[in-house]
Amino acid sequence: MYDAIVIGLGGMGSATLYHLARSGCRVLGLEQFEIGHAMGSSHGSTRIIRLAYSEGPEYVPLLRAAYRYWRELESAADLDEPLLHVTGGLDIGPEGSWTVEGSKKSCLEHGIEFEELGGADVSREFPGCRLPASMRAIYQPDGGYLMSEAAIQAHIAGATSAGAQVRSGTEVAGWSRQESGLRIETPTEAFETKRVVVTAGPWIGRLCPALRHYCQPERQVMLWTDPPAPDRFKPERFPVFILESPLGRFYGFPDHRGQGFKIGKFHHLRQRVEDPSGMDRACQPEDEAVLREGIAHYFPGADGPTSRAAACIFTNTPDGHFILDRLPGCEDVFVAAGFSGHGYKFCGVVGKIMADLCQGRSPAWDIDLFRLSPRRWAGRA
Ligand SMILES: Cc1cc2nc3c(=O)[nH]c(=O)nc-3n(C[C@H](O)[C@H](O)[C@H](O)COP(=O)(O)OP(=O)(O)OC[C@H]3O[C@@H](n4cnc5c(N)ncnc54)[C@H](O)[C@@H]3O)c2cc1C
Repeated sequence: MYDAIVIGLGGMGSATLYHLARSGCRVLGLEQFEIGHAMGSSHGSTRIIRLAYSEGPEYVPLLRAAYRYWRELESAADLDEPLLHVTGGLDIGPEGSWTVEGSKKSCLEHGIEFEELGGADVSREFPGCRLPASMRAIYQPDGGYLMSEAAIQAHIAGATSAGAQVRSGTEVAGWSRQESGLRIETPTEAFETKRVVVTAGPWIGRLCPALRHYCQPERQVMLWTDPPAPDRFKPERFPVFILESPLGRFYGFPDHRGQGFKIGKFHHLRQRVEDPSGMDRACQPEDEAVLREGIAHYFPGADGPTSRAAACIFTNTPDGHFILDRLPGCEDVFVAAGFSGHGYKFCGVVGKIMADLCQGRSPAWDIDLFRLSPRRWAGRA
C-alpha cells in the first residue's frame, strides 16, 4: 500500500512526486508515455518565468517561492547547465493594456523593482525589438526562462533518489474505492494507495470527468527561427517578452545556445482539442503564418529560416486561474489542473502545495483563488 500515487509525470506531477518523496512518503508515480515526452504541455525546451505578473498580484508570493524552488532543485541536482536563466523580462502592450497595467500593478503592490519604457526606448535598448513609439513596456530584471524538459528529469531523479518509484509507459484507466484506500487500475497491473494526486495536464477530463467542462485543452504552436541578426537575440541582449498587440498576444525567448529565436502566440488559432493524444502535431503553413506575422512586425531581425516548430497543449479554465484542490466528493483524491498556458514556472511550488494537501497539511500560501467552488464558476461558461 502506497501513501500516495501521482498520476501523470509532466511538469506538475514530477514536482509533486519530488516533494512527496522528500517528505518521507512511500510514493509511486505513473506516466502513460516516457518521462520528458513531447505529447503534453511541458516540452519545447524553455518556459518563461517572471515576477511582474499581469495575471494577478495574488500570484506574486507563489512566484517568489517558485524562484526559490527552482534554485533549490538546481543545487540538489547534478546538472550540465542551469535550469533557470535570468535575462530580464519585458511586458509590452498599448498604453493602458491588460499586460502593461497588470504587470505594473503586481510590481507596485509587491515592491518589485521595475522600469517603465516607451516603445522607442525598448527598440533602442533591445535592438532585437522594433516597437511603435506609442507602445509601453514594463521591464523587470528577474524575468527569464526555465529549461522545462531538463527540469522534469531533475525532479524525477530527485524523487527516485529520495525513494519514489516511477513507472513510465503506464496509462491509468481509473480508480476504485477499497475498504481501505484506493485501487489504481492500469491495463497490466493495479496498485493500492491511501491517496492520489492527479496531474494529468490536458488529459484531466478523462480521469476526472467532473472537471472536463472547466479544463478545455487548446492546441498551441511554438516556432524557432535562425535570426539573420543573431547578436541581437543572445540572452545577454534580449529578454524574454510578452507582447500584447493588435495582432494578438505573443511571447518569446532569446536564442538559447544556438537553438534560435523562439516565439508563440497565446491561443494561437483558437483550436479546441477533444483528444490530446490524437491532436495534429505537425506545424501547418497557417500555424507558421500566424507567428511569422508577429516576427515581421515586431522582431524583424529574427525573420530568418524556421529551424524548428512544435505543437503543444494549453488546458484552459474559464477564469484562467489554476485548479489546486481536493476533487469534490473524493476526500482522498487531489487535483492540480487547468494551468491555462501560464503554469510551468510554478511547478516547484505547485508540487509542494499538492504534497502538503495530500498529506493533510495546510499549504504555506493562500490558494483560495485556485479552489474548486460553485461560486468560482458562477456566470462563466
Ligand atoms: C506552447 C506552450 C507555451 C507555454 N509557455 C509557458 C511559459 O512560457 N511559462 C509558463 O509558466 N507556462 C507556459 N506554458 C504552460 C505550461 O507549460 C503548462 O501550464 C504546464 O506545462 C502544465 O503542466 P502539467 O503537468 O499540467 O501537464 P503535462 O506536462 O502535460 O503533464 C501531464 C502528464 O500526465 C500524463 N498523463 C495524462 N493522463 C495520464 C494517465 N491516464 N495515466 C498516466 N499518465 C497520464 C501525460 O502523459 C503527461 O505527461 C506553456 C504551454 C504551452 C503549451
